[in-house]
Amino acid sequence: MFKKLLASLLLGVCLMLFSGVSVAHADTYVGSKNSTKYHYTWCKWAKKINPNNKVVFNSAQEAQAAGYIPCKVCKPPMKD
Ligand SMILES: [Zn+2]
Repeated sequence: MFKKLLASLLLGVCLMLFSGVSVAHADTYVGSKNSTKYHYTWCKWAKKINPNNKVVFNSAQEAQAAGYIPCKVCKPPMKD
C-alpha cells in the first residue's frame, strides 16, 4: 500500500520534471556550421543538418549574435 503511493508520487515528480524540460527546449533554435541560417528544431532543413555540424542556440538573439539569420522556410523570430 505505502509502496504503491510512493511509486505514484515518484512518477508524478518525474512527469513534472519531464514537462519542465520539454518547455525549456521549446525556445531553442538550431543552425549549421556550414550555413548562416537558424531554424526551429522541427524545420525540415534543421533535420537535414549533420549532427557534427549542428549548433544549438537558446534564443533568437543568441543566434543573431553568432551571425545567423532566420530561415525563410520555418521563419523563426528575430527576437524572443
Ligand atoms: Zn528552417
